[in-house]
Amino acid sequence: MADTIRAGDRFGALTVIDIDNRPHRTSSWLCRCDCGQEAYFYTSRLLNGSAKSCGCKNHTDRNQQTDLTGKRFGHLLVIAAVTTRAASPNGSAAVTAAIRWKSMPPA
Ligand SMILES: [Zn+2]
Repeated sequence: MADTIRAGDRFGALTVIDIDNRPHRTSSWLCRCDCGQEAYFYTSRLLNGSAKSCGCKNHTDRNQQTDLTGKRFGHLLVIAAVTTRAASPNGSAAVTAAIRWKSMPPA
């Protein structure tokens, strides 16, 4: 059956470990990402393909599409992308991205 999930199933970088047994959470699964991060995902997100990693792969893809390193914005030169990852109480990972820059004299 394509609409069922069992422990051991893989969805992208995610390996299903166990059904989520926490109270009030009846339709999600504990998964381990290839990067080692564990997080809970809703069954529907796994089945429809919107959950393929803990977020690390999404972030990598986004960086590749919008890499601003070396770009100039007026006096600012972008020198690096900065990633901050923080685990939230519900077990998911929140990722925020920013850029590091330095002030340059006008070209
Ligand atoms: Zn990951």
